[in-house]
Formats: sequence, C-alpha cells, structure tokens
Amino acid sequence: MKNQKKQKRKRFYKKSIWPSIVLFVIFMASCAGLVTTFVASFQGYLVDSKISDIQEDARNLGRMIDFNRNEKGKTIFETVSYVQAYLEEEKSICITNEREQILQQIGDTVPDFERTEHISIFAPFRVRTPYRMMPDLDLRKEKRDSILKLSFQEIVRRSLEELSDSSYEDDRWMEKPLYHEYYWVEVPIKNPGYRVYYRDALTIVQKDVFFMNLAVLIELVLLGVPTVLLFVNVWSSIAMQKRMVNLLYQDPVTGGRNWIYFLEHSKKILCQFRNTNHTYAIVNLHMIRYQDYCACYGSREGEELLQKIDGFLRISIDRGETFARFAKADFGLLLRSSSKEQCEKRLKKMLVELTGIKKDKMMSFSAGIYLLHPAANSKREKRRQINIDQVYHFACAARGTMRGKEGEYIKVFDQQILQEQLWKNKVEETMEAALLNGEFKLYLQPKYHPVTEKIVGAEALVRWISPTDGMIPPGRFIPVFEENGFITRLDDYMIGAVAKLKSEWKLMGLKQIPVSVNVSRVNFVKEDLAEHICHLVDSYGADHAGIELELTESAFFGNKELLLQILKELKLYGFTISMDDFGAGYSSLNSLKDLPIDVLKLDMDFFRGEDEKQRGEIVVKETIRLAKALHMKIVAEGIEKKEQVEFLAEQGCDMIQGYYFAKPMPVEEFNERVKQDC
Ligand code: C2E
Ligand code: CA
Ligand code: CA
Repeated sequence: MKNQKKQKRKRFYKKSIWPSIVLFVIFMASCAGLVTTFVASFQGYLVDSKISDIQEDARNLGRMIDFNRNEKGKTIFETVSYVQAYLEEEKSICITNEREQILQQIGDTVPDFERTEHISIFAPFRVRTPYRMMPDLDLRKEKRDSILKLSFQEIVRRSLEELSDSSYEDDRWMEKPLYHEYYWVEVPIKNPGYRVYYRDALTIVQKDVFFMNLAVLIELVLLGVPTVLLFVNVWSSIAMQKRMVNLLYQDPVTGGRNWIYFLEHSKKILCQFRNTNHTYAIVNLHMIRYQDYCACYGSREGEELLQKIDGFLRISIDRGETFARFAKADFGLLLRSSSKEQCEKRLKKMLVELTGIKKDKMMSFSAGIYLLHPAANSKREKRRQINIDQVYHFACAARGTMRGKEGEYIKVFDQQILQEQLWKNKVEETMEAALLNGEFKLYLQPKYHPVTEKIVGAEALVRWISPTDGMIPPGRFIPVFEENGFITRLDDYMIGAVAKLKSEWKLMGLKQIPVSVNVSRVNFVKEDLAEHICHLVDSYGADHAGIELELTESAFFGNKELLLQILKELKLYGFTISMDDFGAGYSSLNSLKDLPIDVLKLDMDFFRGEDEKQRGEIVVKETIRLAKALHMKIVAEGIEKKEQVEFLAEQGCDMIQGYYFAKPMPVEEFNERVKQDC
C-alpha cells in the first residue's frame, strides 16, 4: 500500500508540471515576502528618521544647555531662556523638577507626563527612541493616545487618501503634510534635580511616503512582470504539452483517438471499474472488403468513410467505454455490458446502423468479441494485468473464424477459438525450426487408372512429423502458413523434394510416374514464380515434364492477368498445370476457357452424400465430357467405393485418387507399390 502511494507520488512528480509551478509560486512568494519586508523596513525607517531628527534636536539642545550652564555658570532657567531665543516660534520648552512638577514653561502647552513612550515605528525591529516622547496635555484623551500609537499603516492610508483626492495640477502636492503632530521630547541634560522638555512637530509630507509607494510599485513591477511572464510561459508550455499529448493520441486518418490511447485508456477504465454486475467486452469491429471499397471509390473516399465510422462510434459509446482505430478499417472497442447476449444485441444494432452510414454505398461489417471474464472484474490487480492488446487480438481471432461464412457477422471468442489460437501460436513458433530439422515429410498418394488399376500418377502431400506432437495432418498447419506467408517456403521445399525424388527415380532406374505438387495461391503474386520453380526443379536435375503443378480454384480469383502470364510461362518450361478441387466453392467455368489447364481434378464433394447421387452423377458426367472436349485430363479425388470407380471408368475418367486404392504414404512405401505394380 505504502509502496503504491510512493509510486503514485513518483509518477505524479515525473509526469506533472504542477510541482514546478508550486515550487515557483513558493519561490516568488518568498521573494515577495523578503522584498516587502525590506521595503516596509525602509518605509518605517523613513518615518523613524523624522523622529530621529526630533531626538537629535533634543540631544543638541541638551548639549547647548549643559555648555551654557557649565562654561558660563548660568542657572538652568537662564540657560533655557537663552537657548529658547534660538528656537523657532512653535517649539516650546518646559522645566520640571524630578517629580515632574512644572517649574518654568515657555509656550502655551505642557507635556502629558502620564502618557510617555519611546516611540518607534521602525518596522519590523521597533527600535525604541533613546528619549521619551509625550503628547500635549491639553489635547483630547483619544488624540493623545493616537499620537503615541503612531503607525506606519495609518500614514500610508492617509497618503493614499490624499493621493486619490489631490489634484495633480497643484505643484505643491508633494509637500502636502500627511501627518503633522507635536511631540514633547525629554532633553538630556547633566543636571540632577531638573528635567527639561522640548516640543517639536513631527511632519510627514506626501513626498516622504510617495517615494515609499513608488518603491512598492517598483517592487510590484519587478516581481510582477517576471511572475506574469513566467506564468504565461508555464501556461503556454502546459497548452503545448496538451497539444503534444493530443498529437500523440490522435489517429492520423480519422482525427479521433489512436491505438496508444485505446490501450492506455482501456486499462484505466478497467482499473477504475467497480460495478461487478457488469462486465466489459473488447470488440474488434471490421469493415468487410475495405480494400475493394477504396478500389471502387478511391482512397480519399475510403478515409472519409473511416472518419464517419469514428464519428458514429463516438456517439454510440457510453461513458466508461472507449474505442480507437487499430489499422485499416479495424476498430477496437471497449464496451460495458451486463451479459454476452446484451453485448451481441448492441453490436448487432451497431453493425446494422453502420451499413447505412454512407448512403448509396454498399458495405458490410463484422465483429469479434472477447468478453472479459467476470473474475477479472473482482480484483483490481487482476484487471490491471489484462493485456488489452492480446485480448483485442483474441477478438480479432474470433472474427477471423467467420471468414468466408455467409450470414454470420458476430462471433464471441470461446475456448475452442482459444485452443486454435494457442495452436496457431505454437505452429508459428516452431515452423522455422521444423523446416530446418526436416520435420516436413513428403508423402505420396497414388493415382490409379480406373480400368487397368495401375499407378499412373501421384500427388505429393506434406506431413509434419513432429518429435513432440507426432504426425500433424496438413489441415492443421496449412491454413496457418497461408495466413502468415510461410506456405511459400513450404511449397518450395515440397517442389524441391519432388524434383529430388524424380531425379533419384531416374538414377535408380524406376518408372517415371508423373507427380503433382500443390502450389498455394499465395505464390501467385510473384511475377517471377515460373522462373523460380524452374530453377528449383533444375537444381535437382529433374525433368519438367513429369511434374504437375496443382492450383486451387481460389488462385484464379486474384490478378487474372498475372496468373495467365505465370501459367503460360510454366507451360513453356514444360510443366503440367492442373486445377485442384474443381467444383468446390464458386466454380468459374470462365477459368476453363481462359487458362491453359491440362488436368482437371474433380472435388471430392462430388462423391459425397447419397441423397442427390443421381444429380451428382449427371454433373460429373457432363464435367468429364466438357473437360475432354477441352482436351483436359480428368482426375477424380476422394474415391472410396468400388461402384464410384466403375462409374468413373464408364465415363472415361483418366485417373482415380482415393482411399479405395491407397492413402497418402511415405516415399519408400510408394516405391514398393510401383515396383509391385510393374
Ligand atoms: P488436396 O490438395 O485436395 O489433397 C487431397 C486431400 O484429400 C489429401 O488430404 C488426401 O489425403 C485427401 N484424400 C485423398 N483421397 C481421399 C479419400 O478417399 N477420402 C478422404 N476422406 N480423403 C482423401 P491431406 O493430405 O490431408 O491434405 C489436405 C490439403 O492440404 C490438400 O488438399 C492440400 O490443399 C493441402 N496440402 C497438402 N500438402 C500440401 C503441400 O505440400 N503444399 C500445399 N500448398 N498444400 C498442401
Ligand atoms: Ca491437391
Ligand atoms: Ca484436391
């Protein structure tokens, strides 16, 4: 707990600019305090200097009295009368005895001996004056009190009052008195038995205080200007920081939030989440065939569409939810829901609304959902550990399982998908090493003549013999390889293995059986594919003629021109071309017309199911007729029954590949079979 707090504090200090601001404010306040104290002291000193003048006069007067008495032998009364002649008119003097009873009074008033002070306003030290000071006795009581409590604030107040009242056209406004009061000061004399008091005026004029105010003003300007400047600076850096953060979190295409933001914000939401009745779902929202959309309407229009989707999602999500674009037309969403059903329902509605986001333009969307396990809701620590990126990819994997499935648009990630995902990861981690270690083995499935029942060909099929998992059938890893592109490496390996086998047969003097090898559609984007295959086969010194390249029908849906060019080149090199799985999926009879195909392999689905057997036979019969008319050879795949063989023999099918005759087998076993066959 303590540690967490510490870390939080550390993070705060690291990330926030506020500690610097606080420090700066403290620094400026200290400066202001110091300067203010200094100015106040200075101001106090100004007033005190006036008092000091009075005290100084009193001291001089005392010296004069002492001199006159001691040097000239005059009495104290004579001396004072003599000295008084030198004083200005309003300055009175009085002599008392030790008990402060008036003995002689020169002037109209006498001091109030009851109220006596060592006055000083020298802030902040308040140094006391050396000689006592008193007000006039004949003044009102309050006045006498106030005179002794002479305060600096009072003087400043009067000064400001005067300043606002006075007319600046009056030249002598600086000389205007703010404070003019009389004080009695005890005169220091060296004569025991008597005391002398001297009355003088303390006058503070506007000029004295004006300079004080000026000092304050200068202080304010000196401190204020850099403070304001610094504040403006700090403020603009905060604004700049905000702008930078915005930039960091902004998606360049949609202008909305980007993936970094999604990852960080989702985590924050999940950590703060408290309502255990709800659960969260990470969703992968995908626009189907976005590439095609861009190809049709242009990439500008494509970007606009993404912006619209972003805008739509912004208004569709609630508080405590978030979303961002991941890549291309894929968006990640963090949605709150009470159940799986509710989440699906909400998404379904979203997908429907999204299809209408651009009028007159056809588009469709699909979504994969990963429901965060309710247990993940219970403990904050568990929620903090959720890897949003990984979970999002699980949602993507769930969506991926719908690929090519009609009418299905939402899929929730489940255990089965998880297993598949784990398997996929395992395959991807081990495939490179497996290829190097020779774990991929060449198996051959013989093709038989339906009448003579002799081996007339073979198909090369891969088997992964893993030291840990045993024999892995191609259906388990080929789709993964097709997705990650590794299939091209495997196909090269298999073509090489077939070429090697063919040259071994030559050396061993065995019958040269034509062998077909699968070439994935993924390969048909390489312009130099034909040349590449040619080199591969040549490197083993095998004849091109005995090698047949099998393409699945899906290869015919890509770049048709490039495909045609590659096939023509392959034919020129002397390879045989066959169309695999003909009849599966969306058959294109056009392909038969346009492409230089030598062999047609009927898909095994033609021979499955008993219900429509008769109709199936008609289709097979007519397809064989069509192929023959186009001078193609026909291979029937997946044949398991004797009656199927008989039917195909009747129809003039050229080759049969199926369990009825043999399953795929290791090369040695195949060689044995060929020998026996002869
Ligand atoms: P495919 O090219 O259509 O290969 C024929 C598949 O049908 C083989 O499955 C074969 O064992 C199976 N088969 C043959 N006769 C029968 C039968 O009478 N009954 C049944 N139930 N099945 C039969 P396999 O070997 O599991 O291969 C599956 C698919 O994996 C292949 O289908 C092919 O698309 C792919 N594949 C296999 N080896 C390679 C390869 O080296 N490269 C590429 N690109 N794909 C390969
Ligand atoms: Ca095949
Ligand atoms: Ca096939």
